[in-house]
Amino acid sequence: MSMNLELSPIIWNDITPLRKLLENPGKRIVIMIHVNPDGDALGSSLGLLRLMEKLGHNCSVISPNDYPEFLKWMPGTDRVIIMESSSALAIETLQNADVIFAVDFNDLSRVKKLDEVVAASPAFKVLIDHHPNPSIKADCILSDISSSSTAELTYRLIKEAGLSSRMDKDTASCLFVGIMTDTGCFSYNSSNRKTWETVAELLDYGIEKDRLYYLTYDNYSADRLRLLGFSLNEKMEVFPEYRTGLIWLTRSDLRRFNFAVGDTEGFVNYPLSIRGIRFSALFIEKKDHVRISLRSKGDFPVNDFSRKYFNGGGHANASGGESYLSIEDTVKRFKELLPGYKDQLADYEN
Ligand code: 5GP
Ligand code: MN
Repeated sequence: MSMNLELSPIIWNDITPLRKLLENPGKRIVIMIHVNPDGDALGSSLGLLRLMEKLGHNCSVISPNDYPEFLKWMPGTDRVIIMESSSALAIETLQNADVIFAVDFNDLSRVKKLDEVVAASPAFKVLIDHHPNPSIKADCILSDISSSSTAELTYRLIKEAGLSSRMDKDTASCLFVGIMTDTGCFSYNSSNRKTWETVAELLDYGIEKDRLYYLTYDNYSADRLRLLGFSLNEKMEVFPEYRTGLIWLTRSDLRRFNFAVGDTEGFVNYPLSIRGIRFSALFIEKKDHVRISLRSKGDFPVNDFSRKYFNGGGHANASGGESYLSIEDTVKRFKELLPGYKDQLADYEN
């Protein structure tokens, strides 16, 4: 997701060197995605993987950790190398790459332990992303924070490289899932006509939009749905005076509902559906830290908030971070911060 009110710096380098590089088949290509990959990271990378293989390249996708169960139907998911469980293979594959695509992130801290391997690689590096302030050094930077999703930018790159005729239904389906998930099914971040033009063109590849929707959103376990019910009923706190809602889940809460990776994806959006609420936080207790997701409506920049208090970042309306306090103390600290933002949070139409 990106934000409407922010300035829209666009860095879109000349892609001629990349196009030339891809002309001869047999290149070893690695597509690197960020920790806790979402639908956009997977959609963009798997779409690109499929295309690169069609062009005759040897391509892999590497993720720092596992990705949500509910996305495991996507074409090519069996090809994702998970660093956490296959670290030697991930490192060797990266070290031997001719080309590295960094997809849907722009700061090496997002690839966790692979940061130094990526930085040290002599490969030709391409950044495709829509987050603010890219800090990765790349030979080709394709960064546009006004874009709905990295998947939309990936499609723009494919078109500019003259490769759209090599795309097939699977690639188009992956890119569609990236756009669909990063816009909350076209509910936010999709006011730009470019997004709809992209979707219209993807439809021309024969994608089955309704099927892609239900494969993604009607693909949860019963445990996940029960965890959602429990979270809303017992673990949500609402602070109308600060127009804020939060949900916090401990490891034992998660265990109780047989947590699988991705089960809490989307939970952070629920408090925002309460009338008047414009700031929402989700706290998930991990083994050695607390993972935090923040969302807002309007012009309250949660990326600044994450950066300032929770070692994180992201978009103005969707960001994340981490805390090394206990989950109880993290939530307490968050609540203590709210009064300082009362005026800023009050100033909102809904
Ligand atoms: P989520 O809450 O879905 O994990 O993340 C929301 C958005 O914030 C994503 O676009 C993601 O890229 C960004 N984000 C999440 N966690 C971090 C973080 O720790 N650092 C930075 N820089 N961005 C993050
Ligand atoms: Mn994205």
